[in-house]
Amino acid sequence: MIQRPLTYVTLGVAIPVVAVVALAALAGLYRGSDAALALIFVGFVGVAIMLARNLRLLVAWARQPIGTPAPQVEGLWGSVFAEIGHRFQRECEVKERLSAELGRFQQAAMAMPDGVIYLAEDDAIEWMNPMAEQHFDLDRRKDLRTPLPNLIRQPEFIAYLAARDYAEPLVMRSLRRRDRTLQVQLIVFAGNRRMVLSRDISQLERLENMRRDFVANVSHELRTPLTVVGGFLETLIDGLDDFPRADVITYLTLASEQSTRMQRLIEELLTLSALETGAPAQVDETVDAAALVEEAFRDTELLSAGRHEVSLVLEGGGVLLGSHKELHSAFSNLASNAVRYTPAGGHIEIGWRADEQGGEYWVRDDGIGIDPAHIPRLTERFYRVDRGRSRETGGTGLGLAIVKHIVTRHQGELRVESQLGEGSRFAMRFPPARVRLD
Ligand code: ADP
Repeated sequence: MIQRPLTYVTLGVAIPVVAVVALAALAGLYRGSDAALALIFVGFVGVAIMLARNLRLLVAWARQPIGTPAPQVEGLWGSVFAEIGHRFQRECEVKERLSAELGRFQQAAMAMPDGVIYLAEDDAIEWMNPMAEQHFDLDRRKDLRTPLPNLIRQPEFIAYLAARDYAEPLVMRSLRRRDRTLQVQLIVFAGNRRMVLSRDISQLERLENMRRDFVANVSHELRTPLTVVGGFLETLIDGLDDFPRADVITYLTLASEQSTRMQRLIEELLTLSALETGAPAQVDETVDAAALVEEAFRDTELLSAGRHEVSLVLEGGGVLLGSHKELHSAFSNLASNAVRYTPAGGHIEIGWRADEQGGEYWVRDDGIGIDPAHIPRLTERFYRVDRGRSRETGGTGLGLAIVKHIVTRHQGELRVESQLGEGSRFAMRFPPARVRLD
């Protein structure tokens, strides 16, 4: 890099010296040796003064901050200063560009949602990003240059690091937070440098567990009625002629009930899946809120068949902006739960209120109620407080999951208040954007 400026300096020194010697030689040839010596002497003194001045300027300039303009010098030395100045300028620019790019790379690595740790050859930590600190409970201020196996002591990790076969990632639990599952992958780069990448897969694992539970639940829910139907049919096939007609009708009626139950389960599963995959409910469909609530009230009376005292409260009408089909399904779901979980003689209130704060549909009963500990889980698919009672009353365990989806798709929320043995109040609240007052 610095070769050309050096050549310039050499030339800057050599040319005046050669010129002086040449002049002196010429003078010596024509005027005699004393005069030549005197000329050489004067020439050298002149050259020395010029060199000393230029070198002093060079040293003074070199001490200035990088980027200070070169001193204005005439002739060859001017080129020396200009050339050195350009070189420095270009080098500075390249350095600035490189360090800006390095800074950007570091910023990107710092912001990565995955953990990144660079390891030195002795497995000591050279660099790590904040996510790696979080994943492994490390501290950048203390742990840099500490060998990683001293900090992450799980045997499976130490074995993975030592095995030097990183084709597959390692799945491990975080030591401090047992609910956190990490996927760790070692990557070898630039010869024998290594980098540890870590990813929090707890959420994925939870989803996978939910999927497994769901499949197990659906299979279980379908198997029970299918076994019953299968059992009845086998009994009838074996002894159709031996059973009185009334018994045959009873068996077939029971089998038909089970088949209705399976049908309802499948329909609710399909509804749930459509709700989960669909876009938020349209706002251009207008639903007469009071009419819908009155419909739910009449359905409740029909379902109760006189076993409960059902009342209707309407505080303001208004229009709900959303899907009629979905809202009807959610309103009747809550109402039918009140009938199913309220013993005969109980009270059920179906109500609607609309004002500037939005709208609220509620169903209150004085039935069996729910222990508040169960409330946060009620909207999970297949979650039931009392499995037996739910089945007896024809429940699938999917009703509240469907209601929750529907209210969320209308930007509302489901509120549940309940006390064991005292009854419950389920309310769907809609924001003002979903309610148009008359
Ligand atoms: P299910 O088909 O079992 O009724 P849901 O999803 O509709 O399923 O309700 C989930 C659970 O919440 C029910 O199994 C029941 O234990 C409880 N539950 C729902 N509504 C009421 C209510 N009004 N009173 C008491 N418990 C209720």
